[in-house]
Amino acid sequence: MSEKNNGTQGTIDDFAEDSEDPESEEVSDAMVGLLDHYPGNATHEESSTGTSSTVEERVVEAFHEDIDPKLVDAGWGFRQAKSVEFGKTDQSLVNHVRNGVTALARVNEAIESVGGYTYDEDALRDAIALFTIHDVHKLDEDRDESADTRFDIPTSDIEEYVERFGLLGWAESLTMVDFHSCVIDHHNSWEANPDQTTHVFDEYRPLIRLADALASSETPEAATDRRVVDAVQHAYPNATVNLRRHNLTEVKGILTNLVNAAIAETLEQSSYERLLIYQDGCVYLAPEGVDDPILDEEFVSDTFTNLKRNIRESHAAYKDHGQLVNNLTLVHAQGFYSINDQDFFYAGPETVLRAVTLKGTTDADPSSDPTDSMADSMEALEAHLPFKINRTREPVGIARLVYTVKRSFVDPVVATTDNDRSKLAATCEVFGVSDAVRDGLETAADELSLTAGGKWDYSYGIAQALLNEGVVDSTALTDRVSNALGEIDEDWTEIVETEHAGNLRSELTAYLRDIISVDGQPVAGESTELTDPFEEYAGSRRGKTCVLCNRGTTGTKGDMKAPKSLTTLQAGYSNHIAVDSGKPDELLACYPCKIELSLRETGSGRREDGRLWFHFVPDYFYTPLSWKQYSTFTANFHNEAKTEIGRLAEAVLRVGDGGVSQSGEGDILGSYVAALLDNDHGRSMIETLDQGFDPDSQYGSRTFGYFKPTDNDTEFQFFGVFVALALSAYTGLRVVVSESPIPDVRGRDFQTYARIGGGFTQVHDFYGTDIPLSELRSRLNAAAALIQLGYGAERDDALFAKYLRATRNKSLPGSYLLKRLAQTDDGSNAGFLLEEARVLDEETGHSIEP
Ligand SMILES: [Zn+2]
Repeated sequence: MSEKNNGTQGTIDDFAEDSEDPESEEVSDAMVGLLDHYPGNATHEESSTGTSSTVEERVVEAFHEDIDPKLVDAGWGFRQAKSVEFGKTDQSLVNHVRNGVTALARVNEAIESVGGYTYDEDALRDAIALFTIHDVHKLDEDRDESADTRFDIPTSDIEEYVERFGLLGWAESLTMVDFHSCVIDHHNSWEANPDQTTHVFDEYRPLIRLADALASSETPEAATDRRVVDAVQHAYPNATVNLRRHNLTEVKGILTNLVNAAIAETLEQSSYERLLIYQDGCVYLAPEGVDDPILDEEFVSDTFTNLKRNIRESHAAYKDHGQLVNNLTLVHAQGFYSINDQDFFYAGPETVLRAVTLKGTTDADPSSDPTDSMADSMEALEAHLPFKINRTREPVGIARLVYTVKRSFVDPVVATTDNDRSKLAATCEVFGVSDAVRDGLETAADELSLTAGGKWDYSYGIAQALLNEGVVDSTALTDRVSNALGEIDEDWTEIVETEHAGNLRSELTAYLRDIISVDGQPVAGESTELTDPFEEYAGSRRGKTCVLCNRGTTGTKGDMKAPKSLTTLQAGYSNHIAVDSGKPDELLACYPCKIELSLRETGSGRREDGRLWFHFVPDYFYTPLSWKQYSTFTANFHNEAKTEIGRLAEAVLRVGDGGVSQSGEGDILGSYVAALLDNDHGRSMIETLDQGFDPDSQYGSRTFGYFKPTDNDTEFQFFGVFVALALSAYTGLRVVVSESPIPDVRGRDFQTYARIGGGFTQVHDFYGTDIPLSELRSRLNAAAALIQLGYGAERDDALFAKYLRATRNKSLPGSYLLKRLAQTDDGSNAGFLLEEARVLDEETGHSIEP
């Protein structure tokens, strides 16, 4: 049973940016309709199968199902709620409403933790319905935003939207007059009409203002501003509430997301409830008066512990020893398995141990013969042992795992104890062989040399003892070894991990200390040698900065390089030099970048050199409620999904021409989505890099790789940007298209909807470097028209370098290309492309009137 708050009618600063007139060109409903499947439809099926859901989850889901698609159809995806033209970061009206709706729902969900009374389901629906139309005064381009009359909106206008979106049925207790009150009043500026509002609206006013305040916050700093705190307090008068935040000074990708999650978990201990997820930080609801977290070494250490645990739980590859087996490499000459050091960090010593025993028992083949050298060692050992050793590869496989366990696990554990027993004796103990066998092996070690060239052939004796005992399955061996190591030192996993991956721990800890701030405060603490990597390395490693992010680095890529690894950088791109598999040892990358790249290796399927990258930025934020919906959608972009560019261009133009009937819309949307994402047609060219990562374990940023087969740089860049913009328009996410795998700008560093980064010199003339929301449709249409005209002659991507030159050199490039097309073939295609030529002339022509 929840209690409805009394709306407190205090004076609140004007949250809405009323001075803003988007002046966006008329956008066809259908064009924006391409957003229809997203995010509601794409995710609804998924979420409706969920078992339990909160009131807020149900209401948000209903919003996405019932209302969101209608906003998109109404053209709100390309209408600006906030715009770079008015000094704000671009935000579409659809995203403004989505942000407000999901943020309000999330506050309602979390408010009980700070003593507030939640609004019930009906009240929440009412508030969301009202908020949906709160900005319709921005839609009338003839209305003078500076005039006193700008909120004098005829009831008929409001009725049109309320009916079109079905809001009266969605929020049953509201009347048309309440909606009218919302549109004319909520802004609380002196032009508004407070004397004309309804009692019902007066009650919801604080919620509408809260939703607006949160939706309009471009950064975590803005969202934790005093006026937003006041808005929460007005909407939930019983709560004693504060808004807090953490920020990151830089962004990489999956690592950033995992760090966000780890910090949130640390802050939960100070009763912080996560509300909003930005690319570079999170906003929290916290009880007023609660002690601020102390940003000391313990904070960093706790966050590191959370991060490590989250990494291990974030992806099946790190939990599944069956997958990890593929990372083990047999070193033939010495007879052990080589383990990638970083796997001790990502997967943990126990999972690595499990993989080792699985590998060894799988390699134990009783039907093949040992080499002469193996047989010689076996024979020599038998003189000291109470049994014969089988002359097959069965003891050989087990012996390899025994030696691997000795060198990678037993040796470092024994080295940390005061016990003076030999490593051979300790290994015998760990595998539980009899005293007779141990004594025999020790005598053998005194008399024989079975360690030439790095071998350790005493392992054959232990292997045969295990075979005789019948302990030869992977699980039994793992349990035996694990328990025995625990007897020697209960902290054996930490010892083993530190031995192999201690540098990852220290480097990541230093990184966390460097990039985290909470409520504007940096992490304090004693200066350690790692506190300032730049200072540290300036003296000893002059000029050794990361080629990807310019951070100080302690080593080369070779430090983490290993063959066949699930988790190792094998190909990529840097912002300075090409990073390919050819000269890996010459590449200097900082540990955080290496970790980011290795996480991506786990989450992606493509290894092409020369890829480009799409860094997506939320507009302006996710909430825990919306992040999962986006994740469900982007999971479709796995490495085998195909994109058909010709069909995508056709769909972009068809939804863009404004002449599409309502009934035909579904087909066009369907073809748009199918062209981006198909299992059968087109070519594989884009993939998300966090495939298989649990969305619950990481959040905030999202990167796609683009790897279309290349003819020349110009066409590669041209099609890459086209696909990026199409995807960006479809998802409602801002995007940076870049040659660098690590983003060189954060979302806060640019205000336009899309940014085409450095290195795209061949296509800057065509697309521009910064594409505001107001020009997104125009850029997409121009590219789509050029593609249609280009493919009209011959489906040869290489020719697009030439076509792009025409867009620079010809005053009417569309007409020019059409004329060439008519001359070079039988003319049959040209007749169908008149409209494309007109669009291209209109969008790229040099304003020469005929
Ligand atoms: Zn770096």
